[in-house]
Amino acid sequence: MIDTHCHLDAPRFDADREAVTQRAFAAGLEAIVVPGVEPTQWPALLDWPRRDPRIVVGLGIHPQFLPDLSPADDDRALAELDVLLGRGGAKAVGECGLDGPTTERVPMDRQLAILRAHFALARKHRLPLLMHCLRAHPQLRTLLEEEPVPEAGLLMHSYSGSHELVKRYVQAGCHFSFAGPITFVDARRPLDALAAIPLERLMVETDAPDQAPHPHRGSRCEPAHLPLMIDAVVRVKGPEARAAVTENARRFFRLPEPK
Ligand SMILES: [Zn+2]
Repeated sequence: MIDTHCHLDAPRFDADREAVTQRAFAAGLEAIVVPGVEPTQWPALLDWPRRDPRIVVGLGIHPQFLPDLSPADDDRALAELDVLLGRGGAKAVGECGLDGPTTERVPMDRQLAILRAHFALARKHRLPLLMHCLRAHPQLRTLLEEEPVPEAGLLMHSYSGSHELVKRYVQAGCHFSFAGPITFVDARRPLDALAAIPLERLMVETDAPDQAPHPHRGSRCEPAHLPLMIDAVVRVKGPEARAAVTENARRFFRLPEPK
């Protein structure tokens, strides 16, 4: 199993990160993808896979972190991102994307400019994009008409769009992953979307420490919860989905078969 989106570097894991990581591997995970969210964290993230190759990292600027970054520093941060991606070690560009609620503090124009820069870096470094899109699907769809999905792919993390939109994103070449909400007893919208996604475009994630699955809903999520997401996927997509979500993640992140 591969957790394709886990904020294992988040402060909420500071007290017991090693124990959380060991529980995940004991639960059968072969890799955990940790997406970067802001510049100060990038150098430490790049060191992590050297210590443990089961940790896979992406580097990017999450739109929800933009309120804490000065717009005057955007160009410098993106130039640094280019340099760090050029050193190798990162397997993806992101987490990046568009966040509707954040437009109260960061205009959509700035979010779009930063996201376009991530597209350019993904093409330049031949890496896939890890995409956050919350209540900004019209803007993302418009962007995708001008910015093709990078050759290495684009993963819509914790997909929250409608099932009607799935077809358009599939045509654009997107992959999708799902987190805890597909396990909720009252889940409907994400299950409708999940049903519409071709098996070969599908992955799973915990989005830890957020979005804990049923029966842990409301508590801290951790990567060892991933089997619950896979069980939920299998209930909708059938037993062949169990192996497919892992094989898809290996292919997408270009990870070796486990020994
Ligand atoms: Zn995230």
